[in-house]
Amino acid sequence: MFDHILLAVDGSDHSLKAAKVAGDLARLSGGTLHVVTAYDELPHYLGEPNLSKAIAERTNNVEKILLATVEEVGEIPGECDSEYLEGSPAETILREAETHNADLIIMGTRGRGEMRSLLLGSQSHKVLSEASCPVMLVR
Ligand code: ATP
Ligand code: MG
Repeated sequence: MFDHILLAVDGSDHSLKAAKVAGDLARLSGGTLHVVTAYDELPHYLGEPNLSKAIAERTNNVEKILLATVEEVGEIPGECDSEYLEGSPAETILREAETHNADLIIMGTRGRGEMRSLLLGSQSHKVLSEASCPVMLVR
């Protein structure tokens, strides 16, 4: 059970907590862990050299997020890899879950968004509603 875990992160404290749980579960199950973060497309009207600068800054940011996440996961017996992809977070997570045959998706209840009065963020809500495998939301 839980041979292929997909962990979705946005760098928020919630997603770091999700990373810790994902590490614990991967250590128990011996399964693989695929970590993914999605980012929005940059507007092309920025023009050069602004676009190149913005791309470099964004790459730096997502790499930092993935590094911090993998550190939080810790050592696991199975394979652990990470990837950043352009696109809407929930759609990217759902697609990655299919591509990687995930049998569990782990993410935070909330993320970096501001609407604190809601229990769930819009991305966790969409993934929970549409995923074809179990979803664990961590808070
Ligand atoms: P909202 O985005 O609706 O304003 P929010 O940011 O509080 O609210 P979500 O975006 O749904 O809530 O975040 C919930 C969880 O979804 C995060 O803890 C993280 O696990 C995952 N997530 C959010 N954004 C991304 C992303 N860009 N890439 C990968 N995972 C993400
Ligand atoms: Mg969000």
